[in-house]
Amino acid sequence: MKISTNSVVTLQFTLKDSNGNTVDDTSEGGFTYIHGHGGFIPAAEAVLEGLEAGTTVQFSLKPEEHFGERNESLIDTLSKDNFEEDVAVGDQFQTVDEEGNIVILSVSGVNGDEVTVDRNHPLAGLTLVFDVKIESVRAATAEELEHGHIHGEGCDHH
Ligand SMILES: [Zn+2]
Repeated sequence: MKISTNSVVTLQFTLKDSNGNTVDDTSEGGFTYIHGHGGFIPAAEAVLEGLEAGTTVQFSLKPEEHFGERNESLIDTLSKDNFEEDVAVGDQFQTVDEEGNIVILSVSGVNGDEVTVDRNHPLAGLTLVFDVKIESVRAATAEELEHGHIHGEGCDHH
């Protein structure tokens, strides 16, 4: 079947920046989402629409098509008291913003008692090159659509 709204899609993908450095890839289980509900980057979902299992596709997205440009006002300096003693550059923490969105906070500097944190999405500002293989496509069940997530292996909410 072709990918359309309410398809449960499993992908394997590698994500590179415009210099060819790998910035993300799917682990062994792949990445599964329900199509048409914002579970994946909307511009990427638009490319996948209508494709079938077994298809491989390569495409690139500019920053404005995924997580936006980097915003320097999202960089803050905090007291080291807020962190574990061994906080280090590259550490990442998950937090929640005022609207309830999950934000990944990356430590970009540790200087004496000051820790510099960056709330930009780690992929913001990059042109992303996707190399995608569509592993499987099936229709979501009514229960999955009601719950807004996929059931079966790896489901841990019950
Ligand atoms: Zn459920």
